[in-house]
Amino acid sequence: MAGKEKQPKIITDKNQMRTWTRAMRTQGKTIALVPTMGFLHDGHLSLIQEAHKHTQLVVVSIYVNPSQFAPSEDLSTYPSDFEGDIRKLMAVPGGIDVVFHPHNLYDYGVESARDCAGNGGMAAVSCLEESGSGHETWVRVERLEKGMCGSSRPVFFRGVATVVTKLFNIVEPDVAVFGKKDYQQWRIIRRMVRDLDFSINIVGFEIVRDADGLAMSSRNVRLSPEERLKALSINRSLSKAKSAAERGELNCKRLKNLVVDEVREAGGELDYAEIVEQESLEVVEEIKSPVVILIAAWFGEVRLIDNMEINI
Ligand code: AMP
Repeated sequence: MAGKEKQPKIITDKNQMRTWTRAMRTQGKTIALVPTMGFLHDGHLSLIQEAHKHTQLVVVSIYVNPSQFAPSEDLSTYPSDFEGDIRKLMAVPGGIDVVFHPHNLYDYGVESARDCAGNGGMAAVSCLEESGSGHETWVRVERLEKGMCGSSRPVFFRGVATVVTKLFNIVEPDVAVFGKKDYQQWRIIRRMVRDLDFSINIVGFEIVRDADGLAMSSRNVRLSPEERLKALSINRSLSKAKSAAERGELNCKRLKNLVVDEVREAGGELDYAEIVEQESLEVVEEIKSPVVILIAAWFGEVRLIDNMEINI
């Protein structure tokens, strides 16, 4: 088994990354990118296996992006284990070709202004701006970034859309694979690629869950055993609402109450629960077309997100 493992090339420099892609492209090779923040789990590894179905070569980026975290959020405690990640990547069937692991994607050399260049009129700032950075260009997907995670994390989607744009420009992939676990993010990236004419096929992959139903997340390691048990209420509540809808309950207020009650009774602190149209993410009152129930809730210090599509 070990003999079949493929050692990925590790690239930390953006110019070297782009040079590699262009060299591969001259050989006629197609390339998929799987962007991650590391501390890999089977959810991430499933995205890689999906990527193999679309292209000959696969690049995985591992980068914890400071521009999507507010100073009050968990950037400094975000888990990481680069060596463990490499071992996991080597064990994926088919392996991967490159790990792109930049130190700082916002380091533009000596000309960078150290002072904060402004934040596009937003009231909130990210860790990137707080640390002093000359970066001042942002990608915003204006309507889809509002609401849900965008309400509780005002700099989050601006940071995600911007770093994904940077990764697309550096790696120049043909395909990029994202998890539907981060449903609003996936929709935002698809819209951004359409609106800005990126020539990249965005593939969405289903949520990978642990055997007990909890959606896999790098943050799950920070849950105590008790909190983890309580967090199972998320998947339970979503499944309950989905079954009710499939049995004919189409009123979103009543469906939402099923979710809210289940999570609160288990001891979770709800950030939001919404039922929205799948593509537009518009809140709906009565299910008439495919929707998705999206939820974010705190269990102790850990904020978890999850969702379930209802295709009626
Ligand atoms: P992250 O490292 O959390 O930024 O996630 C990197 C990518 O993996 C994103 O596209 C996520 O949506 C995806 N992902 C994370 N957890 C899961 C999961 N449980 N199932 C499917 N995809 C996931």
